[in-house]
Amino acid sequence: MATRINVTRASLPPFEEYIQEIAPLWNSHWLTNMGEKHQHLEARLAQYLQVPQVSLFSNGHLALELMLQAFHLKGEVITTPFSFASTTHAIVRNGLTPVFADVDPDDCTLDPACVEAAITPNTCAILPVHVYGNPCHVEELQAIADAHGLKLLYDSAHAFGVTYKGRGIAEYGDASMFSFHATKVFNTIEGGAVTCKDPALYHTLYQLKNFGIADAEHVNAVGANSKMNEVQAAMGLCNLRHLDEALASRKAALERYLDHLTGVPGVKVLLRREEDIRPNYAYLPVAFDPEQFGHDRDEVYAALAEQNIFARKYFYPLISDYACYCDQYDSSATPNAKRLAAQVLTLPLFEGLEPGQVDEICRIILNMK
Ligand SMILES: *Cc1c(COP(=O)(O)O)cnc(C)c1O
Repeated sequence: MATRINVTRASLPPFEEYIQEIAPLWNSHWLTNMGEKHQHLEARLAQYLQVPQVSLFSNGHLALELMLQAFHLKGEVITTPFSFASTTHAIVRNGLTPVFADVDPDDCTLDPACVEAAITPNTCAILPVHVYGNPCHVEELQAIADAHGLKLLYDSAHAFGVTYKGRGIAEYGDASMFSFHATKVFNTIEGGAVTCKDPALYHTLYQLKNFGIADAEHVNAVGANSKMNEVQAAMGLCNLRHLDEALASRKAALERYLDHLTGVPGVKVLLRREEDIRPNYAYLPVAFDPEQFGHDRDEVYAALAEQNIFARKYFYPLISDYACYCDQYDSSATPNAKRLAAQVLTLPLFEGLEPGQVDEICRIILNMK
């Protein structure tokens, strides 16, 4: 049988380059606590993401939790059920109440009209997700946040390097979280960041990720431990040097998929492709409409799995259908999200996916017709 193909595969720098990057640690013995690699990576990423402040974290989820904590919020946070568990868990673990609004069926991001309809006197913030790297409707969301005095905080885990109207995606909103998990476009093995414009917020996050410690004799906040270590930061410095190659490889694979799949009845690629958007080729989400395609998503998944190709049902189930949330929520209240969760399949896309492999995946899908 052909070698197994997974939905993603971590990008790695040349082995020798990484060894060279971490070698100085054997002299300094400085392995964590905002060392030299950490500082370099923050500066490089601020440049790349076009934002004034980047605060690194041990992983994206803790970055999100502490980003929410830093805003001292109380009450309800409007968010999307069509995301990874982390988005809602971060709200709940801050003692806040998630309120789910429905998504735009074309790009899967929060529908601003549904956000507005979900606002109550208890709403304190909006937490949208640039899902699959699709920019949210950032201008409409900002207008709503401004009109109602709400914080606008983005889960940008999928949107590393995406720009909208020539601006880094993290320039929108009050703050954004990025994930540098091994499976993401840019990785530090595990890792994440919060970006913001406000130097005071950077300072708060610096303390929160280090137990709330202000200095040797003062602890000012109930913080956590979520500092990125030097070995992680070194991986980031190396991967950032090779990012252009990684993106070019992903772009070529994505375009080859689109050549095969565009115009096939019942097959809809859920990516915003517009002049104003510089994409990052992170994911290839496809919705299969069983009426038109003749097979449902689960059948496509099974047909691929039989050939040792493992797509993923991102995002199924909806977060509001999880065992830990389903008692409190009714997922039929977000019908677009519900339908997408039943129809979507994220196809393999990663640096080094070969043209022949893309052809084979598409052949299996198109042969089902
Ligand atoms: C990956 C991801 C996270 C969490 O990031 P980790 O680095 O894995 O902790 C949060 N939200 C979304 C949408 C993600 O895809």
